[in-house]
Order: sequence, then C-alpha cells, then structure tokens
Amino acid sequence: MEHFLALDIGGTKFGGGVVSEKGDVISYVAGPTPKPSTAAELWELARRLLHQAVDESGVHSIAAVGIGSGGPMDLEKGLVSPLNIPGWRDFPLRSSIEEEFNAEVYLDNDGKALTLGEGLFGRAKGTQNFVAMVVSTGIGGGIVLDGRLLNGRLGNAGHIGHVNVEEKGNLCGCGAIGCLEAQASGTAITKYFGMDPRQATEAVKVRCGEYVGRGVASVASLLDLDLFVVGGSVALGFGKVFFDAAQRELSARARLSFSSEAKIVPVGLGEHGPIIGAASVALSRRRGLF
Ligand SMILES: [Zn+2]
Repeated sequence: MEHFLALDIGGTKFGGGVVSEKGDVISYVAGPTPKPSTAAELWELARRLLHQAVDESGVHSIAAVGIGSGGPMDLEKGLVSPLNIPGWRDFPLRSSIEEEFNAEVYLDNDGKALTLGEGLFGRAKGTQNFVAMVVSTGIGGGIVLDGRLLNGRLGNAGHIGHVNVEEKGNLCGCGAIGCLEAQASGTAITKYFGMDPRQATEAVKVRCGEYVGRGVASVASLLDLDLFVVGGSVALGFGKVFFDAAQRELSARARLSFSSEAKIVPVGLGEHGPIIGAASVALSRRRGLF
C-alpha cells in the first residue's frame, strides 16, 4: 500500500495530511493562513504542517508529495502565485518541498486537485466528463473531458471563478468586473454583503447559488457536460438552499438538448476533499490516471 503526503494551500488555511492510495486520510493537520505574511512565514507554516502530518500518521515511507494550491501558477516551473495569498508571488513551492523531503513532488491548482480526488474516490468516480468546483474563500475548479483533466497553456484550465456572471458586478481580485468569484465567494460575501459567510442570510445563500448556477450553465453548454460537483466551505455550509438555487438557475439557462439535464450536486468527499485531492495529484500523475 502506497501513502502520499499532501499539502492543501488555501487563502483561509493550509492543510497537511497523509493519504493512502485508497483515498483514506491517515493524518490531517491544518493552520490558518497568516495575514499579512511574508514568503518565508508562509513556507514555514507549510513545512511545519507537512512534518507534523508525517509524524502523526505513523507511516514510515512516503511514495510522493502532492500539492493543491490556489492559482494562478506556473506548472512547468513549479511556481505559485495564489490570488488570495499576496505573500507568495512566483514562489518556488515545488522545489522547496523537493529539497525539504527529498521526494518526488507533484503540484497542481487546488480546483484541479479536488477534481482528481472526486474523480478517483468521490462523487464523480467512474465518470468521464464532469467539472468539480470549490466555492470557498475563492472559487476554483477543474474540468475532466473525455476522461482527461484539462490543463491549458500554463496549467490554469478550470478557473471557473472568473467566468463573467454579472455585467455591472463587483470588482474581482483579478481586476475584472462581475466574475463569479467577485459575486459569490466567501471573500465577496464578506466584502459586498458585509457579513461572515457563516452568518449569511437565506437571501444571500440563494443569490450565491444563483450566480454559481449561472456560471456553470455556460460551461455545461460550452463543453457538453452534465455533472458539476461542488465543494468548499461556503457551498457546503450553505447546503440545500444554495444547491436548490444553483440547480434552478442552471436548468433555466442551459437549454440545449445535451445540457438541459445538467446536474449540480455536493462533492462526495466533503471536508476531506481538498487534502484527498492534493494527494490525488501525486497518485494520478504517478499512475497515469486522468
Ligand atoms: Zn476575476
């Protein structure tokens, strides 16, 4: 049985864990993303969590390290510049972990990582065409088409958070107006609705669901997809109200014969999705899956 060391880099927290090749989480530790923070402070947190995860797992041999990080990034060079973590710009995360752990390290965007986890172990297991998404501090995702995870020119395919959903919408962290992430992410809810997402009203939950459904509808028709699995603290925390609103909007706006049956459902791996996803980056690359 192989075990993978996994690192999940998010705008709110970093997570480290050891995950088995069957998708079982053997150990998991997390710490809040320091803000504001220098590149060195962020690296120290990542390093500490990874060592702690190995120690707590009792596992003696790690097959490889998998990382899911907020984007954008340069996959070829292994550099990360997470939009929600200003302290890291072109930070050499892959080579830093390679040196620290003397292991093979596989890096990908957190949305794509979650997608791999859901495809291998979660709600989309056995499915050849689907999108998985995170609606959390930010909004990201990954696309599996014809059984392959799409990468794009620099590896950034799947940034569904920057699909435009509102003509005169909010200013997004990317500089554009009306991106899905600027309308429905945890950051947007705090900034533009003035409330902690955990205390969101029914109306805000519905509004966010509608925006996500709207963004997804365009993708369903564009790519001939009928399954969208959605995780992240905001979506899962909002629950049924959010998913019902998203489904209503999706069904209303994707009307082609092949997209009108598209479904939007919660992820199968729940809160462990991101860390299993990060491990899945290493597992899938080593075994040539997706
Ligand atoms: Zn944007």
